Amino acid sequence: MANILAFAEQRSGELRKVALENVTAARALADATGGEVHALLVGAPGIAQKAEQLGKHGADVVLVCEHDALGDYNAEAVAALAADRIKSGGYRVAVFSTSAQGRDLLPRVAAKLGVGVVTDVTEARIEGDAVIVKHPINIGKVIATASIASTPAVIGLRPGNTTLVENPKAAKVEQVQPVGDPSAARVKVKEMKQGASAKLDIGDAPVVIAGGRGLKSAEGFKLAEDLADAFGNAAVGATRAVCDDGWRPHSEQIGQTGRVVSPDLYIAVGISGAIQHLAGMRTSRTIVAINKDKEAPIFKIADYGIVGDVAEVLPALTAAVREARKSH
Ligand SMILES: Cc1cc2nc3c(=O)[nH]c(=O)nc-3n(C[C@H](O)[C@H](O)[C@H](O)COP(=O)(O)OP(=O)(O)OC[C@H]3O[C@@H](n4cnc5c(N)ncnc54)[C@H](O)[C@@H]3O)c2cc1C
Repeated sequence: MANILAFAEQRSGELRKVALENVTAARALADATGGEVHALLVGAPGIAQKAEQLGKHGADVVLVCEHDALGDYNAEAVAALAADRIKSGGYRVAVFSTSAQGRDLLPRVAAKLGVGVVTDVTEARIEGDAVIVKHPINIGKVIATASIASTPAVIGLRPGNTTLVENPKAAKVEQVQPVGDPSAARVKVKEMKQGASAKLDIGDAPVVIAGGRGLKSAEGFKLAEDLADAFGNAAVGATRAVCDDGWRPHSEQIGQTGRVVSPDLYIAVGISGAIQHLAGMRTSRTIVAINKDKEAPIFKIADYGIVGDVAEVLPALTAAVREARKSH
């Protein structure tokens, strides 16, 4: 029997989708060994309300740490608490996400525990004494299988790669105390800046419309925005070339040095398909590419390809999506 800890990432008091992915993956690991799933939820007073949602995805116990100084993510305090809980709880595996927050948190937690860490995990299982994981390496060109020798095994799931499964449990809520005084942390969040719009984040959206230089200018992205609006559940992402040119914010950059996304549907618009871009989106479930150059490398990994000018293809696609949604 092996108990598993899942980190429940939240922002502004709302659970991130990756929190539910972590719990879902932890449930599968625990079920295979007859263990329990404990979710660690850290936030401002009142965050305990989110325990029910974690129970819906299979958490048996939600360890809630509430503190006025923990409303915003605090690397120092959260890493100390997570490492302490993982150690004292004797967990076999601790499941985090390789989200932006996870990338900051994971190495801190692993260092405090003195264990190794594997990020960008796309599959994990427990086999006897070993925790076996798959994860892309070499900018996603190779999928490596690793056997994690250290106990506990600390892993970071690739965001968007885990299909959410509801596995309802009436989660037991246990209040836990922070390690030390979070108000005394040496690093403090002074201000949280919201993105320009309240639209979906590329990490959470089931549909991502990603634009490249083929959209020609910042204004050209209106075509991508229109398509995202037509879907209703889509977010707009971009290549590094576009972000470097200042057409879109760096928070939307997808790729090796940007964000990793794995939505159900990824529409690459005017993107050449450089290996560094593919590193951030190649695990998307269905990939559609629109490019006027039929030799563009993006077509090699696309499930569907449209050879054409974005200025013509996108408005037609947007109209078709609007029409299809009207009749449903
Ligand atoms: C260390 C390193 C890290 C990097 N990290 C990243 C990263 O994280 N993310 C990332 O994206 N890149 C990254 N890059 C950059 C990457 O190598 C590419 O330069 C970049 O992805 C190219 O962006 P693009 O596809 O928008 O532009 P381009 O390569 O210029 O491609 C534009 C495409 O649009 C098509 N097009 C042009 N006009 C039209 C039209 N009217 N209709 C339809 N199609 C049209 C063209 O045929 C072309 O295929 C990195 C590079 C390095 C060296």
